[in-house]
Amino acid sequence: MKRVTVFGATGSIGQNTLDLIARAPQEYQVVALTGGRNIAQLAADARRLGAELAVTAHDDLLGDLRAALAGSGVQAAAGQAALIEAAARPADWIMSAIVGAAGLAPGMEALRQGTTLALANKESLVTAGPLLMATAAAHGARILPVDSEHSAIFQALVGEDIAAVERIVITASGGAFRDWPLERLAAATLAEASCHPNWDMGQRITIDSASMFNKALEIIETREFFGVTPDQIEVIIHPESLVHALVGFRDGALMAHVGASDMRHAIGYALHWPERRDLPVARLDLAAIGTLNFRAPDPARYPALRLAGDVMRRGGLAGAVFNAAKERALDAFIAGRIGFMDMSGIVEDVLTHMSSDSGLIDAGITLDTVAHVDHLARVRADETMAARAR
Ligand code: NAD
Ligand code: MG
Repeated sequence: MKRVTVFGATGSIGQNTLDLIARAPQEYQVVALTGGRNIAQLAADARRLGAELAVTAHDDLLGDLRAALAGSGVQAAAGQAALIEAAARPADWIMSAIVGAAGLAPGMEALRQGTTLALANKESLVTAGPLLMATAAAHGARILPVDSEHSAIFQALVGEDIAAVERIVITASGGAFRDWPLERLAAATLAEASCHPNWDMGQRITIDSASMFNKALEIIETREFFGVTPDQIEVIIHPESLVHALVGFRDGALMAHVGASDMRHAIGYALHWPERRDLPVARLDLAAIGTLNFRAPDPARYPALRLAGDVMRRGGLAGAVFNAAKERALDAFIAGRIGFMDMSGIVEDVLTHMSSDSGLIDAGITLDTVAHVDHLARVRADETMAARAR
């Protein structure tokens, strides 16, 4: 039996992961499931799958979780320390699907036990890529990408030499506003930004898709995970979201990964790797689809892509600053405090301000320095937003 743990089990990726596990319960022992405020979902899944442990990130919800698990034999725990303990519990496969910078510390702890980490939490690679990769190497752990583009690249590279790679092309749907006139974007509402044309995902990544902050994170993720240079990475708009990424080799060949827009493909690939097993995803009828479209992204519409280039040029802790500022600006957009197009301006201000202190950005990447600049970037983002509101 494969011992599995799922971080962020109550979220979109988490639920898709549990769907695959529940289809073959005899093959898995669920060690731990973690969630946030959705205690009913967390407890129901822990009971249903016979988990050893369920953890909520919120200390104040421990009583509720205990009550929801009464008589089930599932242990309940709460808070940051409990999340780290869950990550240290021996497991063969751990899904990292917490959203945001909060996913980094549990992921690092999981790597320290030498496990296979299925990484959906792209923010860990953006904030601390070199640290994550070095920790995996030092402990004989393996990271398998779960972001659809990165799973696609990973699959296109099977049996290939990374030295023969000329470029990597990641596709972007263009998000909710890809066909809106540019001048309308400033007035885009939360509800409008929360609808993705092709994918069914958590709210935060859906809004990040509309602004392409998600693609900006993915460019950095590509660089950190595959070790290619920034100028080897390209983004192309592909409205159908059926080609997930392409790898271009030095002989001119482009290997594309084509499949339904269903995250259970990338999750299932990581769950069964290195085997391929049957997965409950739609098979494409290319004749019915008929046409696939591609176009270059408009830089004026998606300033986040340019900022990703700045972050990679600066290196060091710039990724942690970028991600934290983005998270804070996104919080403010969700709360209705700033407009949709304000987010990139705020992130750029924080990045410029904090990069002026090169000692800060160039300090080595550790969990402590990442947490430190993350905190400073959030404070600066709040100051920038307060100044703009005056
Ligand atoms: P989601 O919002 O649906 O779920 C997030 C999960 O993390 C929930 O279980 C929530 O309780 C938990 N969580 C949130 N904040 C937390 C905190 N501070 N501490 C501990 N737990 C916390 O998010 P999602 O869409 O499933 O995305 C999860 C991750 O996967 C993100 O990093 C996202 O970028 C990445 N990803 C998602 C998709 C997708 O299809 N949803 C695709 C590619 C990558
Ligand atoms: Mg993606």
